[in-house]
Amino acid sequence: MKLALQAPPLHTLAIANSDERVAVNRVFCVGRNYAAHAREMGKDPDREAPFFFMKPASAVVDAAAPVSVPYPPQTKNYHHEIELVVVLGKGGRNIPAAQALDHVYGYAVGLDMTRRNLQLEARDKGRPWEFGKSFSQSAPIGAVHRAADIGHPAEAAISLTVNGQARQSSDIAKLIWSVAESIAVLSEFEELQPGDVLMTGTPEGVNAVVAGDVMLGAISGLGQIEVRVTA
Ligand code: MN
Repeated sequence: MKLALQAPPLHTLAIANSDERVAVNRVFCVGRNYAAHAREMGKDPDREAPFFFMKPASAVVDAAAPVSVPYPPQTKNYHHEIELVVVLGKGGRNIPAAQALDHVYGYAVGLDMTRRNLQLEARDKGRPWEFGKSFSQSAPIGAVHRAADIGHPAEAAISLTVNGQARQSSDIAKLIWSVAESIAVLSEFEELQPGDVLMTGTPEGVNAVVAGDVMLGAISGLGQIEVRVTA
């Protein structure tokens, strides 16, 4: 094949205890998947079907080692959302929840960085959240821990500190829609593919960061990520 333009870069994630990497295909994100976070966003945490939004593969930043991300344009309200990240190893459509975990390659700690002003403005006008959520380097993600090595965590402390101060603290057991259920529903809308990434939603405590802040995000069993915001 002769490309007229240079091929876009691959965006990849490190795999824990391996020299192999995962090429990221698409990034799907679950909205409002912890009740206490739904409430802090002014919404009822009823168990309506889960909903999804997306980020481009270029949102992904390898945070297997401490990393910096630039403060993005068009916001003065740049928020952290600590999340359990799922990497799919096997695709499929209409995947039953009971088999969904067989499609998981591994798990990681990630941040769904958000331009909250743009998201809320869009939400309140009935417009897409797109530019609040979907921008370059908005998803720092740590090393992927293979399910073959660690199994499928159903309970684990999830936390975020900023400059050493606690901001978010919960447990992935509090997900309204489990990883398996989220994959099952998502696969009814779109045929999933290997390398697709699912960010499963954030617990309460989202808040703003500014240039110079250092975020430490952790999920028990999946290690931690250190992400510095630069001007
Ligand atoms: Mn999120």
